[in-house]
Amino acid sequence: MRVYNFSAGPSMLPEEVVKEAAKNIEDYAGSGMSVMEMSHRSKWYDAINTECLALVRELMNVPENYEIIFVQGGASQQFDAIPLNLLSSFDEKADYIVTGNFANKAYKAAKKFGDIRLVASSEDKTYTYIPKTTKDDFRKDAKYVYICENNTIFGGKYWELPDTGDIPIVADLSSCIMSQEIDVSKYGVIYAGAQKNLAPAGVTIVIIRKDLLGKANPLCPTMLNWQTQIDANSLYNTPPCWSIYMMMLNLRYLKKMGGVKAIEAINRKKAAMLYDFIDNSSFYNNYVEKDARSIMNIPFVSPSAELDAKFVKEAEAEGLVSLKGHKLVGGMRASIYNAMPIEGIEKLISFMKKFEEENK
Ligand SMILES: *Cc1c(COP(=O)(O)O)cnc(C)c1O
Repeated sequence: MRVYNFSAGPSMLPEEVVKEAAKNIEDYAGSGMSVMEMSHRSKWYDAINTECLALVRELMNVPENYEIIFVQGGASQQFDAIPLNLLSSFDEKADYIVTGNFANKAYKAAKKFGDIRLVASSEDKTYTYIPKTTKDDFRKDAKYVYICENNTIFGGKYWELPDTGDIPIVADLSSCIMSQEIDVSKYGVIYAGAQKNLAPAGVTIVIIRKDLLGKANPLCPTMLNWQTQIDANSLYNTPPCWSIYMMMLNLRYLKKMGGVKAIEAINRKKAAMLYDFIDNSSFYNNYVEKDARSIMNIPFVSPSAELDAKFVKEAEAEGLVSLKGHKLVGGMRASIYNAMPIEGIEKLISFMKKFEEENK
């Protein structure tokens, strides 16, 4: 039986996509082998790579003056790759905003490679809000401003990008990529590990405005330099073929469903159902400020840590799995990415009602 998996990542994939992969597992497109077994230089894999890159461009409406590459090492690898690609020397500047754990890791990693300044942080209130900034908060000669757009662990979200004037924004979209329509032209660099919303683990998408290329630190390792995969159409070395194949199937499915616009409407509906229920309950709480709430990751607590643990255990027995909150936060967290159907939210809410009745 398939469960409703609320894991923050790796996370659910649409059932139809998993079934499609299963159908072709032994013999992909008459090749006599699975995608897991074939050469990344084969004509079949070449077609997968090309189609998948094209689908990312189409579904996110990525303008021509942006490159798209697939890399490995997870989103975390980009914490180092970003300053190494965008700062030519160790004294060039970049400004960071820290709105959660992953942004903090990115900030700390960058400090090794440049003159990095922390402009704003929401750590004082355990990352439950998005700090307000204005153009004047950033150094005029900063090469980029860094944000994490959706805070996977604490459940906060940038709903409006900071005004940085002409300074390009570099954004981590790992937990919100293709969950809502965005205007790519407002960003300098977008990157995202695919395992939250798009694919199994192993592949990270990086989207780079072309004029920001060619300035990497001379010490930037070959495999971290974005230009390496740009020049090789993301086939410089062996890619995570299976993950990219699964992403292609998932993006085909998303396109068939009506694309990002269609999934955004569903995502907003799912999140509203859950927040409405939590806000109308005196048993459950979500502490994120209302204008900064994520529609992908929804943390909540019951009246006590003991009840939280009981909740997680009993939910699991009902096929509602991976609801335990991150260790930094405790409580529960429902990650409701693109692949979580509305029925999963309905089932979660009815379980929450029952649990409240039995334990209040
Ligand atoms: C999951 C996540 C990461 C880390 O991704 P890895 O691929 O495990 O390195 C970074 N940033 C955000 C926002 C995430 O959600």
